[in-house]
Amino acid sequence: MDCLFCRIVAGEIPAARVFENDRVVAFDDIAPIAPMHVLVVPRTHIATLNDVTPDHDALIGEMLRAAATIAAERGYAERGFRTVFNCQAGAGQSVFHIHLHVIGGRPLAWPPG
Ligand code: 5GP
Ligand code: ZN
Repeated sequence: MDCLFCRIVAGEIPAARVFENDRVVAFDDIAPIAPMHVLVVPRTHIATLNDVTPDHDALIGEMLRAAATIAAERGYAERGFRTVFNCQAGAGQSVFHIHLHVIGGRPLAWPPG
């Protein structure tokens, strides 16, 4: 399968990994939009949030916990950080392997653009 994030998970494309276990991998975004911009991805290929099933419930929870752990390690637990899944191109998804953006280190406006 020709998927960028599957290739990063497999180690075929280098990335600055910040966390990994048997189910998820986290790495710095190549084009950060904030001082902290990490992507948490499942090792298994899931194209969009629309493809998540009840079998993935624990995996999605683990992705969110990994995000909070990474943010805390970087000192953002109290200062605040944002987690985002973009779903489909209309919402900004450009890589079709689900990924949780973990963003922090600058003021984050709401509502988002
Ligand atoms: P999306 O737009 O799908 O929500 O987010 C995809 C993210 O992947 C973008 O923030 C983009 O900068 C990042 N990205 C794209 N290609 C690469 C890459 O080769 N390596 C890394 N580390 N991040 C990438
Ligand atoms: Zn993939």
